[in-house]
Amino acid sequence: MELTFPFPVPPAPGEVLEVLPGLYSVRMPLPLALDHVNLWVFDDGDGLTIVDTGLAGADTQHWLRQARAKLPKKPITRVLVTHHHPDHCGMADLICEEHGADLLMSAQAYEAAVILQHRDRGTDVVSTAAALARHGLSPEKQQFLVDHARDVENLNPGMPPRFTELRDGDIVTAGPYELEVIFGQGHAPDHVCLYCAGPGGAAPTSSGAVDGAPGRGRAAGFLISGDMLLPSISTHVGSPASWLPGNPVAQFRKSVGRLAALPADTFVLPSHGAPFYGARERVAELERHHEQRCLTMLGLLGEPRSAAEILAQVFKRELDPLQLMFAMNEAVAHLEYMTERGDLDRAEGEDGVTRYVRKPERRRR
Ligand SMILES: [Zn+2]
Repeated sequence: MELTFPFPVPPAPGEVLEVLPGLYSVRMPLPLALDHVNLWVFDDGDGLTIVDTGLAGADTQHWLRQARAKLPKKPITRVLVTHHHPDHCGMADLICEEHGADLLMSAQAYEAAVILQHRDRGTDVVSTAAALARHGLSPEKQQFLVDHARDVENLNPGMPPRFTELRDGDIVTAGPYELEVIFGQGHAPDHVCLYCAGPGGAAPTSSGAVDGAPGRGRAAGFLISGDMLLPSISTHVGSPASWLPGNPVAQFRKSVGRLAALPADTFVLPSHGAPFYGARERVAELERHHEQRCLTMLGLLGEPRSAAEILAQVFKRELDPLQLMFAMNEAVAHLEYMTERGDLDRAEGEDGVTRYVRKPERRRR
């Protein structure tokens, strides 16, 4: 089955699109290669619950004001944040302060956001560059990152002083919908997805509002997938270079496996790109993508090489500083993943650079 898109045309900035009864899509522009993030707004009876916020800044405030003029005339009472990245929680403190709204997010995400908030961008990028040097990033490329630190320096979020903790399996009620919190890993710690089983499942239909699913003849469940499941770009998988790497690729594959186990007709509302049907197909595509990336890297590792030394052959395009950082993190994540599953050996050279090599005895799986 192909993915299908019942709302192929996104709402313009400042416009709103009702994708399900009482559930609105708002598109917030981003000044990045990835040029937008989708917010979701629930009509929650007395107020509005907004899922994610866009980046901090006057632009976001402007577009949010425009959108609010078209949303039900109610105060924003809750801000629910999927994860700590600035495009998702950049405005959380301003909105919470202005409206007296509650902030809901996972404890790990809140912690990560607070750490970002208090980091000095200049020091941060220097430590990132140093961490990537251990994966072979050249002095020129390190300087390239440091020189462009200013491009992203205002992206860090401010965070309200308190929040309500979301845990895996929690149920959040928003309007007529009961939303189950599903944690995902590998993109950001304890990333929150929200699943509503639909009127046929656990969700109540008090107002009778849930009368059908877009583009389908009958009601089905929906998933607010955040960055865990996107229709056209593959989710960035990796840890920031200055964190311990862990095994984000394995964590991500396990997490999206959970999403693929949801009913096949689940309507997916992603943070980037258009809402779609076909979660299982998309997860299968992502599985192939990560496996293909592993095979490409394995093919390059007959001799010991570092992440930086194979980068150009894995990401065959021009990378801006932010993309270079993501690409390095993602390359390291895949190398660590393959090391853990026994495909590669890892060794640190006398120059302090970590290199990976294909195991001679590796049999094809
Ligand atoms: Zn993200």
